[in-house]
Amino acid sequence: MIMILIGPPGAGKGTQAKRMEDVFGVVQLSTGALLRELIASKSELGLKAKTLVEAGNLMPDDVMVALVSDRIDQPDCASGFILDGFPRTIVQAEALDVLLREKGLSLDHVIEIKIDVDLLVERLTGRFECGECGEGYHDSYKQPKLEGVCDRCGSNDFIRRADDEEDRVRTRLGFYHQETRPILPYYRARGILKSIDGSKDLDDVTRQMKEALSPGQ
Ligand SMILES: [Zn+2]
Repeated sequence: MIMILIGPPGAGKGTQAKRMEDVFGVVQLSTGALLRELIASKSELGLKAKTLVEAGNLMPDDVMVALVSDRIDQPDCASGFILDGFPRTIVQAEALDVLLREKGLSLDHVIEIKIDVDLLVERLTGRFECGECGEGYHDSYKQPKLEGVCDRCGSNDFIRRADDEEDRVRTRLGFYHQETRPILPYYRARGILKSIDGSKDLDDVTRQMKEALSPGQ
């Protein structure tokens, strides 16, 4: 099974993709992880990627396509894979079709995780973590049991990722709405797109996803 998970940052794509790995025996291909590996390799392309990412820029389409193409050729992808974070633009979606065709593969499912922007902003900007042990917390959903003290290690040191500041979050979401959402009609026209409600809790989203991927749905 070959599928794409599409949704804004913070919609839970990574978590759901992990769960689908277990359910369907496919491999999660997260472009975030592929990029981190590329940067860690310190190759010429890796260094170029590092500069771009640090400046807050997205990788050029051709680099992303080449990364994904190489990854799909690995033996663990033979029984199927889930793309998470790719394609991100129409150009990438078209390039993906070409490379799948060249490899004799075809796309089975595209799942959109839909979620309200304000709910996402609340989810993302509320996140913080222990600076000592990395335990994750949230202003609305998971405060430390004792205010200002980490449940796990007792540290008083908490940090917030710069990425999670509201204006940066809105910029990331803006990119999604401008560049990524327009690829949905491309897949809808082919009858392989299904949308599920991402505002529900994780287990409910997983249930909806399994349902959308079941034969005959
Ligand atoms: Zn801690």
